[in-house]
Amino acid sequence: MATRSEIYALFYSGDVAVKLAAAQELYSQYGKVLALRPDIMAQLAALAASEHALQTRMGAMGMGNTCTQCASRPGGGCCSRFMTGENDVLQLLMNLLAGVQVTIQQDGPVECCFLGVAGCVLVMKPMFCLNYNCSQIKGKEDGPTLIFLEQRTGELLRKQAVLEDLLIDFFCENLCRGLGQPLKELGSSPAMIEKLAVFALLS
Ligand code: SF4
Repeated sequence: MATRSEIYALFYSGDVAVKLAAAQELYSQYGKVLALRPDIMAQLAALAASEHALQTRMGAMGMGNTCTQCASRPGGGCCSRFMTGENDVLQLLMNLLAGVQVTIQQDGPVECCFLGVAGCVLVMKPMFCLNYNCSQIKGKEDGPTLIFLEQRTGELLRKQAVLEDLLIDFFCENLCRGLGQPLKELGSSPAMIEKLAVFALLS
């Protein structure tokens, strides 16, 4: 059985390519088992509903246009390469469980690797991506509209945190059951080797 601090070290550190490879491996190893867990699937469905409500609200506020205008300027918008690091293994796994095809869209130094031609490819996004409203957005909207947006965002983040906790509990119980060997086939970068060493210790 893995401890929560071992899980934190595994899932919240490292390069995004390593985190994505780990999420894909967990999905491949445990996706079917997780799909049979009513608590996890119910929370995933509730999360998807909140995400849809937030997208609807953002669409009604015209945030897509605001963000696109910024992104088309030299230097890009808020979805910067730096923000890529905010993604973690469990949140990427949630996307896979929700049926999202999670792939690296670009590997340049300026923009986030999950920023595709039609925007972010992720449905479950890092907390900072969801929480952040820039001055352009704040300047366009009145107080009640922004509060409503924040309420929708808060609702989504609370549900995401509950699902994250359920997944941590699940992996605390199950990670020691032979995860190390399949992960060893994933790659040989120093970050991956370091992560695999910890997985192997747990296996
Ligand atoms: S919203 Fe998506 S594309 Fe933008 S920084 Fe966050 S993860 Fe990257």
